[in-house]
Amino acid sequence: MKEIVPSVPPIVRNDVASVQALYQKNVVPSYGRFDIALSHGAGSYVFDVTGKRYLDFGGGIAVTSLGHGHPAITEALIEQSRKLVHISNLYYHEPQGRLAEALVNLIAPGKVFFCNSGAEANEGLFKLARKFGHDEGRYEILTAFNSFHGRTLAGIAATGQDKVKKGFEPMMPGFRHVPYNDLAAVKAAISPSTIAILIEGIQGEGGLTIASPEFLLGLRKLCDEKRMLLLMDGVQDGYFRTGRFQAFQRILENAPGAEKFLPDGISMAKSLGGGFPIGAFWARAPYGDLLGPGTHGTTFGGTPLGCAVAMKILEIVRREKLADNTQMIGEYLKTQLQALAKKFPHVLHEVRGLGLMIGIELAQNIPSLPGDATKTQAIRFVNLLHAAGLLTIPAGTNVIRLLPALNLSQREADEGLGIIESVAAKLAG
Ligand code: PLP
Repeated sequence: MKEIVPSVPPIVRNDVASVQALYQKNVVPSYGRFDIALSHGAGSYVFDVTGKRYLDFGGGIAVTSLGHGHPAITEALIEQSRKLVHISNLYYHEPQGRLAEALVNLIAPGKVFFCNSGAEANEGLFKLARKFGHDEGRYEILTAFNSFHGRTLAGIAATGQDKVKKGFEPMMPGFRHVPYNDLAAVKAAISPSTIAILIEGIQGEGGLTIASPEFLLGLRKLCDEKRMLLLMDGVQDGYFRTGRFQAFQRILENAPGAEKFLPDGISMAKSLGGGFPIGAFWARAPYGDLLGPGTHGTTFGGTPLGCAVAMKILEIVRREKLADNTQMIGEYLKTQLQALAKKFPHVLHEVRGLGLMIGIELAQNIPSLPGDATKTQAIRFVNLLHAAGLLTIPAGTNVIRLLPALNLSQREADEGLGIIESVAAKLAG
């Protein structure tokens, strides 16, 4: 196979300000962005327009599963785009069928619907649940406080955080929030209209909280008793991020009675396309047949190009044993970070996570933390890491998230740890 390496621009111009000016004039200002303009990447590194190199521990928020500019992905894009980039879902094509088969084989018998994003994948699950409960007049979906399920109108109604809803009321009806990891509270919240429960195995945006095995097993039992669907949002924590295909598989690895655990639906996106936008939901048999012809669809869902890229990623994940790498490097990173938290308790409060989904909770009120005091501690800490050459993602107000590529090497892990230690040491004085 011919290697295609991303070309480095011959002239590096210091034009962060001019790129920002283009945004300020022309782009809807809905994101709080950092003062960094990126131009290209290679593996786990990205470069900004001034030529500064960053080690990327954010992975585009859990997206770039194989890092940047992976030659096999470039090759797959080229090869498939020569054949067929897009064809309507009015027709069949092999890449979509093959990818659906691969995903079904990774989980359990069922069917897959393809879309373009995580929010859309969840929308599909909401429609599936409503269709399931329609004839009985059941439509309500319970989700957790602090959850995140996307920015569409149903997505913000489903998300258990007020900040995403503010200004967009009235909320779409049919969603109610329950405390995470509190089975008794979920039980008490079920009404005659409730048809499904949707939860993340690990709450990512909400600050990195892991579901307990007892909670997951209890929800399954509850859903069976009440004939409700158990839906899992695997958009961020799925696709081998924890070292297993889905986070619930990792969480339940050694839990007694978990051998037969299966949700009824799973949403996916992010790492599935490694940066190429593709989303999907899987619905367990027989629920995969609930959405018949004409009930759901999207123009770009499961294009030949997106599916070919996703198949190539899966092939590489398997060939290079990246699930094992994720477990091994993830465990190493977590242990080392926990040691740093012991060393600098007034800066780093707690480290938690599974695989390469790790959260570092900062200590409350770090007096030496510089920056705009109106910004959260998480944002100010991330800014310091940027200055030192490491990209990470804030979660909630006080947690730093690490979501690097699944092929992160030991050397890269050590480099990132060195940067985090240097920043923590400086703050600790
Ligand atoms: N669900 C979870 C758990 C997420 O973390 C996200 C995005 O961060 C979404 C859904 C929404 O995905 P997207 O941004 O692709 O619409």
